[in-house]
Amino acid sequence: MSIYLDYNASAPIDLRVLDEMVDVYRNYIGNADSRTHDYGERANKIVDNARVKVASLLGVNKGEVFFTSGATESNNIAIQGLEAYGIETCKTHIITTSIEHKAVLETVRVMEKRGFEVDIISPDQSGRINSEELLSRVRADTLLVSVMHVNNESGIIQPVFELGHELAERNVLFHVDATQSCGKLVDEIRNFKYNMLSFSAHKLQGPQGIGVLVLRKKKYKLPPVTPIMYGGQQEHGFRPGTTPIALVAGLGKSCEIAENEYRSNAEKTTNIKKEIVRLLNESGLQYTINGNQDFCISSTLNICINGVSSEALMLSAKQYCGISNGSACTSQSYSSSYVLTAMGLPQEQIESSIRVSWGVETKIKQLQIDFKKFLDIAKSIY
Ligand code: PMP
Repeated sequence: MSIYLDYNASAPIDLRVLDEMVDVYRNYIGNADSRTHDYGERANKIVDNARVKVASLLGVNKGEVFFTSGATESNNIAIQGLEAYGIETCKTHIITTSIEHKAVLETVRVMEKRGFEVDIISPDQSGRINSEELLSRVRADTLLVSVMHVNNESGIIQPVFELGHELAERNVLFHVDATQSCGKLVDEIRNFKYNMLSFSAHKLQGPQGIGVLVLRKKKYKLPPVTPIMYGGQQEHGFRPGTTPIALVAGLGKSCEIAENEYRSNAEKTTNIKKEIVRLLNESGLQYTINGNQDFCISSTLNICINGVSSEALMLSAKQYCGISNGSACTSQSYSSSYVLTAMGLPQEQIESSIRVSWGVETKIKQLQIDFKKFLDIAKSIY
């Protein structure tokens, strides 16, 4: 098998998480909302324990944690869920960025069709949004600012700390898509201010199909979000439907593991990054790393190999490396990366860029064999 270097698309499940889920599937039956028997109560305990673990990782109260099917759904609830409040209060202006995941970008476009005004800010070649530029667009009728913590393609960390502080002062709701940073930039997430935060378990080695929307309370009140689906009171009505207890338990376990191990994980992923850069230097290929590396997460590199088409490279070197040149959600049909385009990189550079992302289980020895072969192929198609 080739080496898997596409963790930002989906990270492999941690076997400790899998064991926890299998235990729940084997030993717990019933619906967490059943009140008439012990089975329901036992299932409910699983959900409650997981909520406590998520809350502990994020440094929030468990009453602020709501389970969803993943970041896509969390982003939709955070944004669409403000429609009624926005109309009622005549706050119909939304600010976001051109490098958000489609789960944010397409959702704000829907809001635009429903009468909201949307301002979209782009980064420069550093890959980072300028917080002053964004804040200069805030108006009296600004309802929401939605900015991701870490970009899934470039790995660049956005200035959410500055934004959170300023937006709280100005009483503007702030949503952060923390899908690529949750469980990794743990201290940062605990320390910046936000009203709503989204993530998916599978990016931190939990199961696919489960995620979280955090809604921070202010003076004991949740943000003015109304549900976008109806049919039950689960998750405070924000996510109606039977709670998938094994997925929830897996999510909780992955958060617990991340909380215990995030410091050593960061060290390991930094060493892997160093090894990738060393192999690139050793190859003699001309390359550029996209985005300002002072702000890049330790588990991602967006690399332009000069003069080598990324499409041709990925197809010819598929047997050695599982990598991508964009987000998985847009890679079904090839079109050049909208994130790198928004950063203002030249077309030629975009077409030669690949995204490499890894995790603690990535083996340096395998990297030295497979990534090296990958680079040899890049040399041969140069
Ligand atoms: N936001 C970001 C930043 C992501 O990277 C992803 C996954 N690629 C999502 C949202 C959507 O996550 P999911 O597909 O698990 O809903």
